[in-house]
Amino acid sequence: MHCPFCGTHDTKVTDSRLVAEGDQVRRRRQCVACGERFTTYETAELVMPRVIKGDGTREDFNEAKLRAGMLRALEKRPVSAEAIEAAVERIRQTLRARGEREINARIIGEEVMSALKRLDQIAFIRFASVYRRFQDIDEFRAEIDRLSQEPGAPHDTPNS
Ligand SMILES: [Zn+2]
Repeated sequence: MHCPFCGTHDTKVTDSRLVAEGDQVRRRRQCVACGERFTTYETAELVMPRVIKGDGTREDFNEAKLRAGMLRALEKRPVSAEAIEAAVERIRQTLRARGEREINARIIGEEVMSALKRLDQIAFIRFASVYRRFQDIDEFRAEIDRLSQEPGAPHDTPNS
């Protein structure tokens, strides 16, 4: 691993631990030349299903796009980067576990919504209002009512 600060080829691992419920390895590294420290994350790369878009066209699953959508909804909300990464990883797992070669974009949207619902309700409402394009204020209010009737969901509640 090259040092991102000085480009030296030689860096050493100073700490290594499992994160995201054991699905990622986080390594603290230090450059032997300039002494700078940095962190790398390692995740198994498995084939993700292709995405069927609303118009029927297909595209590769794009994790960056998924994360960006979630971050937009979570802007200025009190949710840690680590919790967001864990949620992204959980969504990937859920989608992979379906064992299908192709997956509807709508299903990914629903997964993001349920992940956000567990992380932060404001972020969930932000995302849902854009994603579902609520037709009118009554529909939006109905969604809020439905939310307030659900018991507070702890982070580790399995997704139904
Ligand atoms: Zn260096």
